[in-house]
Amino acid sequence: MYLKKIELKGFKSFPYKTTIEFNGGITSVVGPNGSGKSNISDAVRWVLGEQRMKSLRGEKLEDVIFGGTQEKKAMSYCEVALTIDNQDSIMDIDFSEVTVKRRAYKSGESQFYINNEQCRLRDIKELLLDTGIGKEGYSIIEQGKIDEILSSNSASRRRIFDEASGISKYRYKKDEAQRKLNKTSENLERIYDVFFEIE
Ligand code: ATP
Repeated sequence: MYLKKIELKGFKSFPYKTTIEFNGGITSVVGPNGSGKSNISDAVRWVLGEQRMKSLRGEKLEDVIFGGTQEKKAMSYCEVALTIDNQDSIMDIDFSEVTVKRRAYKSGESQFYINNEQCRLRDIKELLLDTGIGKEGYSIIEQGKIDEILSSNSASRRRIFDEASGISKYRYKKDEAQRKLNKTSENLERIYDVFFEIE
């Protein structure tokens, strides 16, 4: 499983469709200050569902959409697609290649896609659980992240080990099941209330 391709359109400093292909091994992105290198890693975290604008180095949701220059006017939407190789079936989906895409409009609306089928952000999160690729995954180590990991408390640090050892998925499923159980208990109580009222 590895990242094969990133396609950006209208994202931050990339107004035109830009495709970055990775051919295995190590790829370095080099360029002068302010040329958009960090915008590429922002794009990756954004597709994976990052909503905290501070972490994307912006303030408002629309700050990820190309804001215009003297040569090109501002855009009303942006989209980023990641194509991930899945020949080793690490992602639990019946495709040897998976494209995860997010599109957002200035209105604040966001759409998510897996292999061009519209889906929920939750579907993307579930697909990538335990792969290390999620927006909180350890596959993206941004500036200051190592310091943050070293100085965080043991519970936060443990989340990284849980993800690497494949436990996150089960923790997520357990929390989901617990939520459903709580909801069912509430519903049962309501039914009992109605039952005793009409008895
Ligand atoms: P450094 O080497 O200094 O860290 P960098 O190559 O990582 O720089 P980025 O921080 O990725 O550069 O890109 C900064 C550039 O992106 C700035 O020129 C900024 O104007 C531009 N930029 C950011 N958001 C937008 C936006 N919404 N619309 C247009 N341009 C944007």
